[in-house]
This record gives sequence, C-alpha cells and structure tokens, in this order.
Amino acid sequence: MYDYDLLVVGSANADLVVGVERRPAAGETVLGSDLTVHPGGKGANQAVAAGRLGARTALLARVGDDAHGRLLLDSQRAAGVDTAGVLVGGAPTGVALITVDPSGDNSIVVSPGANARLTPDDVRAAAELLGRARVVSVQLEIPLGTVAEVARTLPPGARLVLNPSPPAPLPADVLAACDPLVVNEHEARYILGETGEAGEAGETGETGETGEGPEEWARALLALGPRSVVITLGAQGALVAEDGADAVRVASPRVGAVDTTGAGDAFTAALAWRLGLGEPLAAAAAFAVRVGAAAVTREGAQESFPTAQEVGAL
Ligand code: ATP
Repeated sequence: MYDYDLLVVGSANADLVVGVERRPAAGETVLGSDLTVHPGGKGANQAVAAGRLGARTALLARVGDDAHGRLLLDSQRAAGVDTAGVLVGGAPTGVALITVDPSGDNSIVVSPGANARLTPDDVRAAAELLGRARVVSVQLEIPLGTVAEVARTLPPGARLVLNPSPPAPLPADVLAACDPLVVNEHEARYILGETGEAGEAGETGETGETGEGPEEWARALLALGPRSVVITLGAQGALVAEDGADAVRVASPRVGAVDTTGAGDAFTAALAWRLGLGEPLAAAAAFAVRVGAAAVTREGAQESFPTAQEVGAL
C-alpha cells in the first residue's frame, strides 16, 4: 500500500509582483503599485493543486530559512500537503521578481535560490519517501541531475510524470522513464527541435504546409522513449498518446478564461493524481482538462486551483 497518491519533487518560489504603468528600460527607475507576494514555483503549485483536489500528496523541495520559505510551507499545509520532505536552509528561498504592465505583459527575473540546492544527494536521502508514493511528478525548475536521480531512484511499480518546463535537453534515460511526458505546444516543439525532428510549427500548433500537428508531435515524442505522452493544447484541451495505440484528443470544457497562470501545473497535478488512483491515461486527462479549465476562471496560480467539488460543478 502506498501512503501517498502523489509525491511532487520540484521548485518552490515566492512570486513578488508589482504593477507598473510601464516596465523600466535599462538604467531607468519607475514607481509601481504595492507589492504582493504569492506562493508559486511549479513543484509547489502542483502539490497545492493535488492537495486541494483531495489527493494524498507530499512535496520534496528546498526552501530557505526565511519568511518566503514559511509562506510556502503554510500554503502547502493549508492544502493538506505533507511537508515533512521539504528541506529548509542552504540558500534563500527561490523568488520570481515580476513586473506587470496594464496590458498584462510582464517581465520576470527568477532567482532559483534554494531550488538550485535541491541535489541528487537530497533525492538519495529521501529514497524512503519516494518509495511511499505511487506516482512521482517532476518539472525542470530544479537541477537536471536531481531530476535524473529521481528517475533512477524510483522503485519498481512507481510511475514518473515529467513536465519539462522550462524546457531543457533531456537525457535518454530520463525520457525513457516518463509515463507520461507532459508538454505544452512550446515544450513539444523545443524537445523535437533539440532532436532535429520538429517541423516549423506556427503559434497555432499546426504547420499548415506539412500538415504536422499535435498527433505527429506525439508520435515523434513517443519515438524518443517515453512510455506515454500528453500534449496540453490550452482551450483545446489535450492529446494523449501511448505506444501502440492511436492518439486521443480530450476536449476542455468551454469557460470564460480570466488568467491562465498555473493552468498547466493544475492540469499535470490532476493527471498525476488520477493515474495514481489507477485510472487509464485518457480518463485521467479527461479529469485533468476540467481542473485546468477551472483554474483559468480565477486570477493567480495557487489561488485559482479548484477543489474536487468545484471541478464537479463545472
Ligand atoms: P500555463 O503555462 O499557462 O500554466 P500551459 O501552457 O502549460 O499553461 P495549457 O495547454 O495552456 O498549458 O493549459 C493546460 C490545461 O488548462 C489545458 O489542457 C486545458 O485543460 C486548460 N486550459 C488552459 N487554457 C484554457 C482555456 N482558455 N479554456 C479552457 N481550458 C483551458
């Protein structure tokens, strides 16, 4: 028996947000609105999304021994996430410094801080925790060597879900361990481009001339080794593909989108949780698109993540 439906191994950041009339040019100082501080980072977001849905969730991450670290731990606990695996100290908590102008365009500086100090040794030391989860979800806001160590340390029978964001070249053994690899259109193009298999895809995700689109990307991604692939398609929902079966499109409910921040994290967490409950990939994705859709109806990232009841009402 597993103690957790989902263990998230990943980043935790404090998002420091200031509204500005105009983003400053080099050497310029501008006045902004009052500062707001939000818990964020892809790992922390996924864990909160799963916890709020009711998943038995644990987080393996590193934060600083500072106020931002405490904010992040508080938001995890409020969502019911087990934080015993969160390591404290070694560097300041990661922060994202975000300025947003009235049109919604933003400029972001990320200081990875403690996230960059979540090491392969930390993963080895947490082997017992890894053995207690049916599904382990990782992203790329922590060192790639740490992600690779998670793939290596995973006990037989456990399932690895990887969202390669921000995109980076992935070692073959990490790709081979993914079940599924979860990408948006941008990440799909990046990974296929890295391996020389991408078409000149446009912003819509269809290349037009060659007719290449998500189905072809999924096939090409599967050829790189993952056992399954999920491509998120924004308002279009998602596409799931497994070796030896036709790719399946999963439509997203139509909603009035207010803010898509964190939608991918909510989607991936929901998908990973339902896989942890033993659901087939397409069924898990059908649930996850509803969670992603619910998340875009509210402002913010963690603040926008729905409860299972809210998903049911959608
Ligand atoms: P982000 O980086 O904004 O967190 P992403 O690019 O990783 O997101 P998307 O494909 O944009 O991922 O969105 C993830 C999921 O959220 C989609 O599969 C879909 O279920 C839901 N979603 C996103 N945008 C919309 C929308 N406008 N309407 C309905 N659902 C949406």
